[in-house]
Amino acid sequence: MRTLTVLGATGSIGTSTLDLVRRNPEGWRVVALTAHSSAIELARLAREFGAEIAVVADEACLPALRDALAGSGIEAAGGPAALVEAAARGAQVTVAAIVGCAGLAPTMAAIEQGGVIALANKEALVSAGDVMMAAVERHGATLLPVDSEHNAIFQCLCGNDPEHVRWITLTASGGPFRDWSWERLVAATPAEAVRHPNWDMGAKISVDSATMFNKGLELIEAYHLFPVGLDHLRIIVHPQSVVHSMVEYRDGSTLAQLGPSDMRVPIASALAWPGRMDTPCAPLDLAAIGELTFRSPDEVRFPATRLAREAAQSGGAVPAVLNAANEIAVAAFLGGQIGFTRIAAQVEDVLSSYAPPPPDCLSDVLEVDGEARARARLLVTST
Ligand code: NDP
Ligand code: MG
Repeated sequence: MRTLTVLGATGSIGTSTLDLVRRNPEGWRVVALTAHSSAIELARLAREFGAEIAVVADEACLPALRDALAGSGIEAAGGPAALVEAAARGAQVTVAAIVGCAGLAPTMAAIEQGGVIALANKEALVSAGDVMMAAVERHGATLLPVDSEHNAIFQCLCGNDPEHVRWITLTASGGPFRDWSWERLVAATPAEAVRHPNWDMGAKISVDSATMFNKGLELIEAYHLFPVGLDHLRIIVHPQSVVHSMVEYRDGSTLAQLGPSDMRVPIASALAWPGRMDTPCAPLDLAAIGELTFRSPDEVRFPATRLAREAAQSGGAVPAVLNAANEIAVAAFLGGQIGFTRIAAQVEDVLSSYAPPPPDCLSDVLEVDGEARARARLLVTST
């Protein structure tokens, strides 16, 4: 039996994780479950899984959490500091599934425990890049990618020396607007953006998938996870989302990982690593799928991958600025304040106006993140 903490337990990745735990209750003892404000749902999960502690990041929701946990013997806590403390309770495995840079501090706290971190929260790694990877090294933590592309790459690398790699190819579905003209993109609505053709995900990553910022963030994520250099990372559009990514070796062999569009597959791979576990996911029926197609990304309609590559090239604090500006722009788009094509334009504006020095530690990253958010918010209100 291993101990488990799920940061972001009420979200899409969190509930998929707990679904796997539910099917293998002898394998896990749950330490902490966390949410932002979904206190009632969090309390329900904490009771079901017998968690030691449940934490809401939004302190205003703590009374509701306490009420819902009354008589259960489960601790209730609230606020950002409590979130970090819960992440530091020493679970052997932490699933980092908070959305956005809000997950950075608790994920870093989990890394400092030196255990296994199953990382879904890509924004944390994009923002903190070198700082996070240095902490992983320093504390002897094991970082296992949950993001389906990175999990695929991790499996295809099979421990091989990155020296032998010619290309790492990240596949992208292209999102719901893959074939839309610029004129249609300008008028795209939040409801259209969150309706992903292949995956059922949280609202923020669904919009990121529509803008291709998701792939841009994933490029930066891959840059940190797999030390092959930016020149050996590329993106290909693959509308069926069956091939989750590929590694081409210099000997001419290409290894790909295929699977259904169900995040329980990569989550299970991380939870069971270095072994394997069963999942209830539908088997892959390639004959029914019929065709797998591939094409180059269009960086004119979707500039996000270009912006992300440039940010990765610049390094230092630039990816944190890109991520923060994107988070604010996505929230403004979902709130009806800006149009769809303004998201990338606004990120580019923030990037061109703010060039902070490279961060040395977590608080430097959080400072850059805060300043970039403030600048992005100003752009929203002046639009
Ligand atoms: P969701 O929006 O479904 O869930 C987010 C979780 O984080 C919820 O538990 C939410 O709590 C919590 N949360 C939100 N804001 C905060 C905050 N400010 N402080 C603390 N907790 C917070 O997101 P997803 O599960 O879709 O995504 C989670 C992460 O995984 C993202 O980084 C995403 O990019 C990544 N990912 C997701 C995939 C997917 O298929 N969904 C695929 C690959 C990566 P509450 O319920 O209270 O709001
Ligand atoms: Mg992904």
